[in-house]
Amino acid sequence: MTIRAGLVGLGKIARDQHLPAIEKTAGIEVVAVASRNAQGEGVSNYPNLDAMLAGEPELDAVILCQPPQVRYQAARQAILAGKHVFLEKPPGATVSEVEALVALAKARNVTLYASWHSRYAAAVAQAKAWLASRTIERIDIQWREDVRHWHPGQPWIWEAGGFGVFDPGINALSILTEIVPEPVTLLSASLEVPQNKDAPIGAALKMATASGAPVEAVFDWRQTGPQTWDIAVETGNGRLLLSEGGNMLRLDGEVQVKAPDEEYPAMYRRFVQLTADKAIDADIAPLRLVADAFLCGRHCPTTAFED
Ligand code: NAP
Repeated sequence: MTIRAGLVGLGKIARDQHLPAIEKTAGIEVVAVASRNAQGEGVSNYPNLDAMLAGEPELDAVILCQPPQVRYQAARQAILAGKHVFLEKPPGATVSEVEALVALAKARNVTLYASWHSRYAAAVAQAKAWLASRTIERIDIQWREDVRHWHPGQPWIWEAGGFGVFDPGINALSILTEIVPEPVTLLSASLEVPQNKDAPIGAALKMATASGAPVEAVFDWRQTGPQTWDIAVETGNGRLLLSEGGNMLRLDGEVQVKAPDEEYPAMYRRFVQLTADKAIDADIAPLRLVADAFLCGRHCPTTAFED
């Protein structure tokens, strides 16, 4: 059976990744789009989810690609209508929203998929396997990118609930919580918030593995020139470096994996399988660390930033 999906929020990530990935994936097709200001080609178009659900009673699944601040009500509505739901990352603006969605999806016997695209980067599975048999001594994360390049014209990302630099930073935390075989907890954080924004432009996090290995992360949105998405792990038996957002792996300096980004097709294969099983995959570990950073982090005002 081919899943008939409706996509909500036809913006940057929907066009860059979701539609091309779905094209490549057996077992799922987009038959409708709900977007206030955009229209999909070759599909039925609706101004919002209400209209799409009313006009497409045969839909099996709803893919939510809007900013996180508006995704909860849409996800609830879709689940209550009996649809399987694919959530872009982060799965919600708050932890409590995502927990409520998991409970609702269970009660309604539909799939809820909280997607974490960086976990599907080419080298993440190998990094996880390599670390499984080693003792982690220290982890350093550097996630530095140019917000003007990656997020032009996205006011929501600077507003409360938009996460600021944690929007990319949560990708690093999604890899961290995937490859470390024990819980990671937040110890302290500092958040640099521009005077004219509600969300941070920079953050430094101190965390630890359950065994006590230090984990430090720096997220910065002011990096021009080469961009950095690195996770370095020192172990009792070698050094691992994941770079290019998880698509390149070096072990003791030797390149093991360097592959193009195929994250979204892998996520859609997963979603097709999850819906066949009516299963839920909604890990909140990355979101919980972000929430903890906002809970106990020092908020440090910094100079205004014009994006
Ligand atoms: P976007 O282009 O700014 O927004 C996506 C679409 O959502 C917009 O085109 C808009 O469509 C709708 N939308 C925007 N604000 C809305 C609001 N306040 N209420 C209802 N609908 C609204 O954002 P994006 O870059 O695609 O990111 C969307 C999500 O994907 C985010 O959670 C982000 O973290 C995640 N993501 C983004 C990237 C990336 O590279 N950009 C990568 C991975 C994941 P209409 O105006 O037509 O309704």
